Amino acid sequence: MEKLARKQVQALTPYLSARRIGGSGDVWLNANESPFDNTYTLEASSLNRYSDCQPPQLISAYAAYAGVTPEQVLTTRGADEGIELLVRAFCEPGEDAIVYCPPTYGMYAISAETIGVERKVVPLTDEWQLDLPAIERSLDKVKLVFVCSPNNPTGNLINRDDIIALLEMTQDKAIVVMDEAYIDFCPEASTVDLLNDYPHLAILRTMSKAFALAGLRCGFTLANEALINVLLKVIAPYPVPVPVADIACLALSKDGLERATTQIATLNENRTYLAAELKEIANVTVYSGFGNYLLIRFPNGDALFKAAWDAGIILRNSPIQDCVRISIGSREECEKTLNFIKTQLAQITA
Ligand SMILES: *Cc1c(COP(=O)(O)O)cnc(C)c1O
Repeated sequence: MEKLARKQVQALTPYLSARRIGGSGDVWLNANESPFDNTYTLEASSLNRYSDCQPPQLISAYAAYAGVTPEQVLTTRGADEGIELLVRAFCEPGEDAIVYCPPTYGMYAISAETIGVERKVVPLTDEWQLDLPAIERSLDKVKLVFVCSPNNPTGNLINRDDIIALLEMTQDKAIVVMDEAYIDFCPEASTVDLLNDYPHLAILRTMSKAFALAGLRCGFTLANEALINVLLKVIAPYPVPVPVADIACLALSKDGLERATTQIATLNENRTYLAAELKEIANVTVYSGFGNYLLIRFPNGDALFKAAWDAGIILRNSPIQDCVRISIGSREECEKTLNFIKTQLAQITA
């Protein structure tokens, strides 16, 4: 069967999501999910009818939340589908290329590889910022430049001046895709205000992280109307199931937004607490993080990751030497994890 698949698909290693990696335990801090399990009550009706391609209520609710016009919003099955649509709509397989800047989110590369689009890798600098001269040298054939801020897994923000310089550099050449999956934890860092000046800017958003709706599969692409119209050409006819749109609208209602604001504040406090406590431990480096996760360097990160795994504390190992990414859970989950690290680290790294 494998031989019948496209060559590109035969060669593909699928994205190893936290879910696919598995694990067992009672502390799950590996997928940047929210610890808050909010409940929603729906009137299931009109399920005999197809959904709107772009449910107007959902589009206007998110536009109001993001501070853009409804024409600047596209909703998709998670931000991941937004990534795929951008690659499919803008990159000619076997001809065009994308640029991405590791260490960063894995799906830009996977989407490009699946579709047969060249991947140009321009690593972040030692400070995990954009290497603008190297990006400029790589722009030949490039249609999309992916930038993640707060960056996953490092947690830092990309300098706004550099984003503007990148937008200037790519004008009339390529689209800059800002992945703002975690921006709700630091909304002041959003680039949404730059949409007015840059028609080649696209911003990815999601309900999966701060809105605690990873299982809902609802994301957004913000961009100017001309760019959105291109994506609308390649999107599936009914991408958003009726109950998904209904739940997302409830999450974006006045009450929903108030609850999200409280939960975001709690998670930011828990992150501050976890960072402060980890900093007290010898030989542990805590990188400053702006999302609902922290990247931590341990004397032996792999051993720490495995020992935590065996103890039922599921964290995310990272491609960065000795670094482990810890999602911010409830206070109790933070405490359990801290306790484990405090009591076990000496033995693990001995
Ligand atoms: C989680 C995540 C996404 C995907 O979000 P979904 O809406 O769940 O598809 C996109 N980008 C980054 C950086 C993420 O961490």
